[in-house]
Amino acid sequence: MSASFESFGFASSILRAIETRGYQTPTPIQAEVIPLVLQGKDVLGCAQTGTGKTAAFALPAIEQLTESTAAGNHKLKVLVLSPTRELAIQINECFDAYSKHCNVRQTVIHGGVGANPQIQRLRKGMDVVVATPGRLLDLHQQEHLDLSSVELLIIDEADLMLDMGFIDDVSKIVKLTTNRRQTLLFSATLPDAIKTVAADWLSNPATINVVPDAIPIHLIQQSVYFVENINKDLLLIQYLFATPRARTLVFVRTKQDAERVSRNINRAKLEALPLHGNKSQGRRRKSIEAFKSEQAPILVATDVAARGLDIDNISHVINYALPEYPEIYIHRVGRTGRAGSKGEAISLCASHERYHLEQIEKLAGIAISRREWNYDDFGNLLQLERAMHRKKGNHRPAAKEKEASSEDSPVENQWERGRGKKKKKKNKRKRKSKVITMDDINPSRNSAKYAPKKRTLD
Ligand code: AMP
Repeated sequence: MSASFESFGFASSILRAIETRGYQTPTPIQAEVIPLVLQGKDVLGCAQTGTGKTAAFALPAIEQLTESTAAGNHKLKVLVLSPTRELAIQINECFDAYSKHCNVRQTVIHGGVGANPQIQRLRKGMDVVVATPGRLLDLHQQEHLDLSSVELLIIDEADLMLDMGFIDDVSKIVKLTTNRRQTLLFSATLPDAIKTVAADWLSNPATINVVPDAIPIHLIQQSVYFVENINKDLLLIQYLFATPRARTLVFVRTKQDAERVSRNINRAKLEALPLHGNKSQGRRRKSIEAFKSEQAPILVATDVAARGLDIDNISHVINYALPEYPEIYIHRVGRTGRAGSKGEAISLCASHERYHLEQIEKLAGIAISRREWNYDDFGNLLQLERAMHRKKGNHRPAAKEKEASSEDSPVENQWERGRGKKKKKKNKRKRKSKVITMDDINPSRNSAKYAPKKRTLD
């Protein structure tokens, strides 16, 4: 790649900020997107966090502003829409860093916190507003900001906007801006619904795709275990115990899964925290901080919550559930093994997920190695059952014990699983007595042998 930041013709104040950040060469998405934005073109970018996408739109946006703000007129000219608060905050921090030496003002607007400080900042006049759609519309309705002056509209993580039900709000916001605007839309995947809105909102866009070539996932050691849903918690926890790890990011499908899986990991005496959209802003921030500081080196997250996060030094990515879109797999796995460091990713694939696995291998052009988990290394399953009952002083009739050792349902019901509310209540006592910990699984073993050895990547 021959592009350099100087070759884009950025103002020296911007080049200085880039240097301070320590960026030497543009990433592939930056090399492609920056010239297009500077030429005033609309862009449809298929890319996700981790590719350098934020700088790809923020740097040329600031470059455009450095000229128009010379007169000190801080009217809203650049509007960035983000589906999550964390991502909005992160994008705003990038704008802040890149415009450090310029006369550019930016602020972030999102829900979950009081609106007054945001209104105060808007009153001062802002060139750039990074916002989540709901709060932006609220403040617009209350006439705290005028969107008709927006010259550059950036819609980030559009597919997530769709998943989270924000697309109508985004549509309203688009209509509040003028047709003269330049529009950039980024999305990790391009389902038909996104292509449709893109055709509506963008005018003759250049399409840029950084999936999958620009993310060197072939450098990451990847493997897959075929395991049915019912046994995933057990395999996951045994894997976590047996593997020397630094930060480990576990991707689950639903918010309920995030809660349940992290609870089960904690029961096995490993530190894990859940991260999903139902958590309050404060709890989400605490989970992220604990993960960053390695207080809780395991984060169990939904894609929605984890997407915007820029966290380094993740040694392991675990796909507890395979994602529906193969691009998401590449983005997830791309979070480990960054900057030349070695990463590892494993996937737990149930029979109904094999189709997704095929799609992933097809898109990435790789064959993910199949591995078998040897549960026996951790005590056989009958021993497991016994340990569980010994703990509660609960003796099963012999016939039942035999049934429990059947190969078809080796560990069924041992871990807490998501169920309907009614059933949950009814079985509350029964289910509770079936929760076991790793100590129960293998009481005779030297736990130090299997305890996770913390290590950093470099
Ligand atoms: P993003 O995809 O925008 O969230 O960026 C991911 C990470 O890459 C962030 O930590 C950025 O600071 C970093 N980054 C962005 N551009 C570059 C670059 N050209 N060289 C090195 N790191 C970069």
